Amino acid sequence: MLTLQKTDPRFGAVLAEKPEPSIGEGEVLVEVEAVGICGSDIHMYEWTPGYEWVELSLPVVMGHEFSGRVAKLGPGVSGLSEGTPVVVTPGYFCGTCAECQAGRPDACYNKKSIGLTVDGGFARYVSVPARTCIPIGEDLPPHIAALTEPLVVGDRAVQIGTIEPGQDVVVLGPGIIGLATAFIAKRSGAGSVTVVGKSDPLRLGIAKQLGADRVIDLADGGSRLSDHIEERSVERVFEATGFGESITQGLGLLKDYGIMTSIGIHPAPASIDITPFVRRKLQLRGAHGGGRDCWDRVLAMLPDNQNALGAIVTHQIPLSEAIEGFELNRRREACKVVIRPGMG
Ligand SMILES: [Zn+2]
Ligand SMILES: [Zn+2]
Repeated sequence: MLTLQKTDPRFGAVLAEKPEPSIGEGEVLVEVEAVGICGSDIHMYEWTPGYEWVELSLPVVMGHEFSGRVAKLGPGVSGLSEGTPVVVTPGYFCGTCAECQAGRPDACYNKKSIGLTVDGGFARYVSVPARTCIPIGEDLPPHIAALTEPLVVGDRAVQIGTIEPGQDVVVLGPGIIGLATAFIAKRSGAGSVTVVGKSDPLRLGIAKQLGADRVIDLADGGSRLSDHIEERSVERVFEATGFGESITQGLGLLKDYGIMTSIGIHPAPASIDITPFVRRKLQLRGAHGGGRDCWDRVLAMLPDNQNALGAIVTHQIPLSEAIEGFELNRRREACKVVIRPGMG
């Protein structure tokens, strides 16, 4: 079968044939119907700093944002049947290490990541532990179901950053995670949601379609945040840019006691002027991934919001065109590119 693999610790990815995966004890074979290209896939493709830890797992089939159908059950699997439509939680834990035993699977010593450290979904078939599969409704279109994972990241960010009813929220970065965060923030009772980007009319337009009250393109009239948003004027900032400068500038937007939550992956350290940070009693929090509670919340709201969320998916392409899909993203000509391995 055709797969998209990361083979070497340098720029690029490779379309290559590979035998269909076998399935072991407790595993299922999933036929992938839709798999999104994630920001982290782009980082891995470009091999930007921050992904060195994946090097030992190469070559690996990339892709972690997928939906599909259970095609075959391995020995010892119960609770799933062939043909069941599912989404797959890409990070999974061992269940036996000290952290897992202590009820903190997030901190598992033996954590695996589908599409990063074990083979993922840029393929027709992928074998995954049965416990990573969550059944979904028959009626959910595969490309919408494939948005679950990035929405989960936004859900977790809002959960960590907390939003009280009526609070003004700024989201920095109109990438998928920023858009997901803005969408969930609005649904979580924010008084206003402003999404900020730079030279990014496509994705800022989608932010509007998703319910953002205001969008700001820093390319129009001043490149500093404070040229557009009054300093000390909002309660919550979510940073999904990966630019160190956005941390300092974002903190400047917060009222005293404000909370900034960072979800961006930063290739370089950021510096913070700590004294005003301390005097103004600000908080900086980190959010990453999401737990089963986030998956359940997102899956519960997907069916009623599929029209709005469909705006995020600008391209659906066959696997054979995956490289072009990555390049579309790099040129910012796409928002979410979804690959359909069964297409073409
Ligand atoms: Zn992702
Ligand atoms: Zn563990």
